[in-house]
Amino acid sequence: MNVVTRFAPSPTGHLHIGGARTAVFCWLLARHYNGKFLLRVEDTDRERSKQEYTDSILASMRWLGLDSDGGPYYQSERMPFYKACVDRLLASGHAYWCSCPPEDVEAMREKARAEGKKPRYDGRCRELGLGPGPGRVVRLKAPLNGEIKYEDMVKGPLSVAAEELDDMVLYRSDNTPTYNMAVVADDVDMGVTHVLRGDDHVNNTFKQILIYQALGEKLPVFAHVPMILGPDRQKLSKRHGAKAVIEYEKDGLLPSAILNYLVRLGWSHGDQELFTVPELIAAFDGHNLNSSPAGFDPEKLLWVNAHHMRETPAAALAEQVIPFMDNANLDLTALAGTDKARLTIAVSLYQPRADNLKDLAAKIRPLLLSSEHLEYDPKLRAKALTDEGRAHLAGLAEILETADFTEQALAEAIKSYLDTTGAAFKAIGPVMRLALLGVSGGPELAAIMQALGKPETLARIRRALALPAA
Ligand code: GLU
Repeated sequence: MNVVTRFAPSPTGHLHIGGARTAVFCWLLARHYNGKFLLRVEDTDRERSKQEYTDSILASMRWLGLDSDGGPYYQSERMPFYKACVDRLLASGHAYWCSCPPEDVEAMREKARAEGKKPRYDGRCRELGLGPGPGRVVRLKAPLNGEIKYEDMVKGPLSVAAEELDDMVLYRSDNTPTYNMAVVADDVDMGVTHVLRGDDHVNNTFKQILIYQALGEKLPVFAHVPMILGPDRQKLSKRHGAKAVIEYEKDGLLPSAILNYLVRLGWSHGDQELFTVPELIAAFDGHNLNSSPAGFDPEKLLWVNAHHMRETPAAALAEQVIPFMDNANLDLTALAGTDKARLTIAVSLYQPRADNLKDLAAKIRPLLLSSEHLEYDPKLRAKALTDEGRAHLAGLAEILETADFTEQALAEAIKSYLDTTGAAFKAIGPVMRLALLGVSGGPELAAIMQALGKPETLARIRRALALPAA
């Protein structure tokens, strides 16, 4: 099947969850069918379009890994092309010049409303054969009766009576095409076969179908996905914890997790929740798109992210965590280069215990600091650094001097210390954690010590032993 999709954002804001989901669907559909995914920036609204938003949207697309096979194309650079399309419609008699001033059109609409009818332009210039002139617009000569219908890939058959639509403006008096004219001209020119977008565009679709028909062009497949709602089933907004993609990047979420989470907002594959990107490409064939709105759930997003954190190879995660690390007392250049192995070990210990990169960066920090920079949680210090705690630290240090620093040997050394002294694990656990990391929680003691190595482990225990009582 020949599939060409496109994502066509208007650069009036950053890329949000809803737009990103549309982009993901379009990209997956193209990748599944070995087709093409195009990127088009719809920047004809000069007032609201900003370069800063274009840059931010394109950066978010790159970060998400949604590579395109064409574009970004900028509508603002294609004005002569739209004019040529309008001329084609004028020449074939499917469009006409209209000289009605906007106030007159508004008055017609007002009158129709007052009569309880649909507000519409009454077509008074339709047969006048006017030419161009100041203040004039080009209108589509729309069918006066019949039905406009199509089969939506998500919503099924949809139709509207021709009487519901009027002779829409295609070209304004300021020499710019209207939104629907530019979209159809581009979709035809770019060979788009599947137009997948939010269902707030369904009304535009009927108008666009009329333009396709007037141009004598074949309709693409249309797929309109329902909007994303908050957990309270209201329109999604910031108060639901929904953010722009760029903010999720700053929060330390992984692009593969965002992709996984977004695609499940409106598409299902049995009851599978977790996917790698290649699995998504294999499974996403455009079927099973839901026709009812999906609810955004920030907690589930974090859960999906935690899963992707666990599944990412530690070396790859190590590279991604560096920008999130605090560089106080840490040489990040060394961690990225000569100390990469040490960083990777730290990441592998904590990746099952962190649900985002920010969290991971904070958790591995104590492991990577040198002993003199370790900071101690005051509560743990007060609780664990008792006389008994110090005695255990000293005892453990003695046997660790001669221990082999493999995880297994260290686990055995701890066990034999507990067996010989008769101490319970809870008598040594907190004080050892205080000495080794300064905080409670985290991986097994033996794993921490192996990661630190013998000299650093012993240095940390000695420093803890020298700490004054809290
Ligand atoms: N530029 C439109 C938007 O951002 C998308 C139009 C389309 O996909 O056809 O809503």
